[in-house]
Amino acid sequence: MKTPSISLRTRHLLLVAVLTAVSCYQPVSNSSGQSNDESETSYASTSSETAEPGNGTPDSGREKEENQVESSGGPVGGGFRANLESNLKRNGVDPASAIDQSNAVESRILSEYGAVFLTSAVPPPKVMFTSEAEVSGFQSKAGVEQANLGGTSIELQPKAMAALKKASEDAKAKGLSITPRDGAEAARRSYSKTLDLWNSRFLKALDHWRSKGRLSADQVSKLKGLPIKQQVSEVLELEKSGIYFNTFFNNSILYSVAAPGTSQHLSMLAFDATEFQNPEVRKILAANGWFRTVQNDEPHFTYLGLMESDLPAYGLKRVSKNGGEYWIPDI
Ligand SMILES: [Zn+2]
Repeated sequence: MKTPSISLRTRHLLLVAVLTAVSCYQPVSNSSGQSNDESETSYASTSSETAEPGNGTPDSGREKEENQVESSGGPVGGGFRANLESNLKRNGVDPASAIDQSNAVESRILSEYGAVFLTSAVPPPKVMFTSEAEVSGFQSKAGVEQANLGGTSIELQPKAMAALKKASEDAKAKGLSITPRDGAEAARRSYSKTLDLWNSRFLKALDHWRSKGRLSADQVSKLKGLPIKQQVSEVLELEKSGIYFNTFFNNSILYSVAAPGTSQHLSMLAFDATEFQNPEVRKILAANGWFRTVQNDEPHFTYLGLMESDLPAYGLKRVSKNGGEYWIPDI
């Protein structure tokens, strides 16, 4: 049952969201200087629900006219963590069970990959999946949509796929294309795949630092035998002293591959695009709710399903790196 105060709050949120969308839109600059108004307006504000659905009703047909894509409840005050908690609750997940705030690894992973928790699709129920069963359980609950893009069959959550197909059509209309990078793995992945990817960097780096005399044989064998969560923790500790585990041993492994169980690809909300270097393609993806949210992972896009102009209100900040933009948690 509705209460007057919630109804007023709903209206206030809607008003703020609409005003923000109207007044704060600033096109992302790009080398070609072309306007992206067409695709920006095609992806509309997502403010048709309250932060706690069930307590309010969509205001009117007004949002229906504006919004082609159904959305989350719109930003709540309080920055990234408040919005994350609100979105988890919206999906029936207790934030306390999703994130162990006292765990250094989880905090670090949240600050690196956390934008995905704001998605208007189904957010992952925890920072770190720990088994194949957990991942496949989530994937079947969230729903798996298959499509052929550029000759490759890929799988994503239904909302993410719909937005990607729309982006692909928008790109085609401009004589561009959006295609998966490195086959089907550009989208949905299994837990074991993320474990393989982790090991491809982790084991190589162990050999490297062993040969440089920075790690002893004992340390190497101990690290290999650790349970995965502890292994990630130890790797991040070693990186503090310059023993890096990425491909070139000069940066954190987290910018090279995700820790096992933490990849946004497990949530079927990530897509690696071949054409990531084209700023026009990035604008089209952004206009359809797809943004880069993992620094240094240049081909990797995350389905947030939100308007770019709303992202700061959700607690994300825009950072520029190597001429490209990323939206990361402002924490
Ligand atoms: Zn990726």
